Amino acid sequence: MTKVIIIGAGTGGLSVAKELSKNKDAEVLIIEKGPLADTKDAYKYYDTWDRNEMEIIKTTLVGGSSTVIAGNFIPSFVEELKKYDIDITKQLDELKDELKIAPMPESHIGDADHILQKAAEELGFDMQPMPKAIDATKCKQCGKCAWGCPHGAKWSSLEDLKIAQQNGAKLITDEEVVKLLVEDSKIKGVVTNKANTYTADIVVVAAGGVVTPKLLRLAGINTAGETFAVDPFITIGGYYKGANQTKQIEMNKFIKLPYAVISPHTSQYVLDGIKQTHPDATADDVLSFMIKIPDNRKGKVYANKVEKSIDYDDVAYIAQASAIAGAILKQAGVDMESISSTHTRGAHLIATSPVGEVVDSNLQTEIENLYVADGSVLPKAEGIPPIYAILAIAKRLGQHLADII
Ligand SMILES: Cc1cc2nc3c(=O)[nH]c(=O)nc-3n(C[C@H](O)[C@H](O)[C@H](O)COP(=O)(O)OP(=O)(O)OC[C@H]3O[C@@H](n4cnc5c(N)ncnc54)[C@H](O)[C@@H]3O)c2cc1C
Repeated sequence: MTKVIIIGAGTGGLSVAKELSKNKDAEVLIIEKGPLADTKDAYKYYDTWDRNEMEIIKTTLVGGSSTVIAGNFIPSFVEELKKYDIDITKQLDELKDELKIAPMPESHIGDADHILQKAAEELGFDMQPMPKAIDATKCKQCGKCAWGCPHGAKWSSLEDLKIAQQNGAKLITDEEVVKLLVEDSKIKGVVTNKANTYTADIVVVAAGGVVTPKLLRLAGINTAGETFAVDPFITIGGYYKGANQTKQIEMNKFIKLPYAVISPHTSQYVLDGIKQTHPDATADDVLSFMIKIPDNRKGKVYANKVEKSIDYDDVAYIAQASAIAGAILKQAGVDMESISSTHTRGAHLIATSPVGEVVDSNLQTEIENLYVADGSVLPKAEGIPPIYAILAIAKRLGQHLADII
């Protein structure tokens, strides 16, 4: 038997586990820092890293950030990854069938989407339907995708876990990997915060874009964490009586600009600003958009510190997209005096262990049999949802390891 440890039961880690566990010669152990919780409670496990200029959002629980996604699945990074001899086309096709990725039916498009789409079209902007991994027969349109789905309608990596466990993979929860054991440039195992040592022939690090580079740096891979992208976003909106956007599926449509994506989205922070002009406004009276821009890689992750700030380009792109979003909101009937925005946040934590720099085209590091399979291996940021590409590249690694074991 070949012993394989996967660090992190999140999006990338469980995708590897699902594929690799199909090989009966692989003994798969997944070690996860967070608990195994019901997806409806996922919001309780949000944590943020350094609230400086940019709030960085992630969750720590089994399923990782897949538990709180808006459910958006846009193919991305396909051409970029080909530059590194990585073709994820096959895996994207497989995932499309497995996750039943498709736009929501008309029955699941909310009134707010219709209002915003009409206004956008009147101004000459094309709003496309967003491909989702949400089962419309179960979705109650409660607007709680980013809390964790209360109705079991939205896909999450817990489905990959179920298959991996049926195939014999073992899961340890509530235990944090703090160190990689390396001897003669070969991986030997991991050490956890409970002072347990687990030995392995192969280790796959999938602790997410912030923690993975930290573990690699501690193991002597100093190129890890030298870059960091998050695709900064804001939510901008204003007063529109009875918009009821909070009770509709988020981000069901999107406008793709060269420098930004604009998509219907709500946030409690927008209401705080709107109350300055409309003190009686409630969450039901907000009509708003998310603006997300493609990031540069100008951030760093050190063993105990994260640096990610907003620069001139970020501000310029957000300002340009805000002007368009503001015009559409005005056209839709939003009170312009009330327009307000959130602070800048980032939820696509990527490019901290990029392919071609920290890992090779098989996602192996300079340490023999030490692999990486999460958002950190993506080579740059594209400003569009990355989970489809993360799942595909991790699935590809799982298939590769299953072939060579
Ligand atoms: C609110 C929100 C909405 C989003 N919506 C979308 C969307 O609609 N579409 C999209 O494409 N993307 C979306 N994203 C981004 C997407 O969820 C992430 O890019 C993706 O899930 C990251 O996958 P990952 O494998 O890199 O990390 P994660 O899925 O975060 O997995 C990392 C795992 O490692 C665990 N871990 C961390 N440290 C350790 C340790 N030391 N030891 C053991 N385990 C550890 C964590 O608990 C976690 O389970 C969203 C993100 C957020 C926060």
